[in-house]
Amino acid sequence: MNTLLRPLASPSGIGHWINDSLEGAGHQFGAHRTMDVHDPSTGLVMAKVALADEAVVGRAVAAAKAALPGWSGASPLRRARVMFKFRQLLEDNAAIMARIISSEHGKLLDDAMGEVTRGMEVVEFACGAPHLLKGDFSDSVGSHVDSFCLRQPLGVVVGITPFNFPAMVPLWMFPVALVCGNTFVLKPSEKTPSASLLLAGLLQRAGLPSGVFNVVQGDRIAVEALLGHPDIKAVSFVGSTSVARAVYMAGTANGKRVQALGGAKNHLIVMPDVDLDQTVEAIVGAAYGSAGERCMAVSVVVAIGTVGDPLVARLQARLATLQLGTSDDLSAEMGPLVSDQHRAKVMACIEAGAAEGARLLVDGRDHEAARSGGGYFLGPTLFDGVQPHMRIYREEIFGPVLCVIRADSLDQALQLIEAHEYGNGAAIFTRDGGMAREFCARVQAGMVGVNVPIPVPMAFHSFGGWKSSLFGDHYAYGMEGVRFYTQLKTVTQRWKPDAGASGFVMPTLN
Ligand code: NAD
Repeated sequence: MNTLLRPLASPSGIGHWINDSLEGAGHQFGAHRTMDVHDPSTGLVMAKVALADEAVVGRAVAAAKAALPGWSGASPLRRARVMFKFRQLLEDNAAIMARIISSEHGKLLDDAMGEVTRGMEVVEFACGAPHLLKGDFSDSVGSHVDSFCLRQPLGVVVGITPFNFPAMVPLWMFPVALVCGNTFVLKPSEKTPSASLLLAGLLQRAGLPSGVFNVVQGDRIAVEALLGHPDIKAVSFVGSTSVARAVYMAGTANGKRVQALGGAKNHLIVMPDVDLDQTVEAIVGAAYGSAGERCMAVSVVVAIGTVGDPLVARLQARLATLQLGTSDDLSAEMGPLVSDQHRAKVMACIEAGAAEGARLLVDGRDHEAARSGGGYFLGPTLFDGVQPHMRIYREEIFGPVLCVIRADSLDQALQLIEAHEYGNGAAIFTRDGGMAREFCARVQAGMVGVNVPIPVPMAFHSFGGWKSSLFGDHYAYGMEGVRFYTQLKTVTQRWKPDAGASGFVMPTLN
């Protein structure tokens, strides 16, 4: 068996990774808290994951703190070389990683491969560490005086990640944090915990020194212990808005730097001049791919003017052919939801939408797969005639539910987006360059697509939304990530034998 998979293959235990060794796995759980990990395609329990308490968190932070002097003292070039090796190992093990992700999340295998690729792109960005960390230098700011900037690491930093991208979201964080010279503690989602251990094993094989990257499995208790730990300097969080807001407030109140990315309700505007066939395919993939469990999933279509009726008719027809299947079914277009509990929540939203008077054109609860039991399947759902006051419009559903709302003009669509609580992504489909340009300039969202339904920025840009979709001042990865994981130091130096007389007035340099 691949040695990397040995810890994951234990029938009963997914443990923590501290100082390059696995803790709390297998049959060693004893009296410690655990949680079942399910295969969403079958509903069967595959393993138990350990849930860290304060003592486990303390050990992980202590390991990261002990590793800090050595790692932060290594040159950026050395740190980058570890990332180069890690990138190759990640590519070599991408298929295994995708299988692990699919089996715990329920997303399709090729979708999981896409996740690994998008995460790997951040590793590629981080390989440029010596360039990314180059400071500014000003020669002769005064007589015999130069000034330069250094970007130095913060110390021990933490990543707390959601269930829906068990590899990609951690990869948004730790490659950049590590090449900047920090040490890291990852707290993955307890629903999809195993990818974190494969990442840890690959980092070890890439030559990352012991203690530089650690994993604590767990839930709210582990998060609270991390937020209260005095040796943690910064927290990157991705998850739902209510938790993101709470993490931001607790973390900053404890003096930590925090970036907390939250939920979303992404609008896609369809202008009357589009190619309907292409637009419908783009919408269906973006709304129902990964069963709608993407923070950049399209959850609202704003149909402008006359395009509404033909667009809705085609969407309805396309959904009748959409193939549901288990995560390893290569002919499927959509897999199950992550848990029975989450499926029940999405079903309750569908109920609420129908009760509030939206037109339920396709009801996923009636889908054969949803009725057959064994696996957390729910068919695609389509509402038309949605109004802004309705719960299905206001709240993030995070499932295969698409709301169509009608509007008369681009202006009206932009007002809808502006008034919404969330501002993660937004897109327009049109052939009119002037309309598209106006949309980009005025739309109140952090990530914007023009004829691109899911405009996730590439690794050399940065990812983040506006309003309740992000709390903090820095986006994820790209140069925003470098800024988040470093503190700026500016040196002003004079080298002149007879320099040094200090005065009593405000110093000037020339
Ligand atoms: P979640 O908020 O339930 O959990 C996220 C993390 O927080 C997990 O590690 C979890 O263990 C922890 N957590 C959960 N409840 C907590 C609590 N009360 N106190 C402290 N920690 C807690 O989110 P999820 O269900 O795992 O993921 C889905 C959500 O994440 C959606 O809202 C989605 O939009 C969002 N998301 C956002 C982005 C983004 O970039 N903006 C990306 C992916 C997912």
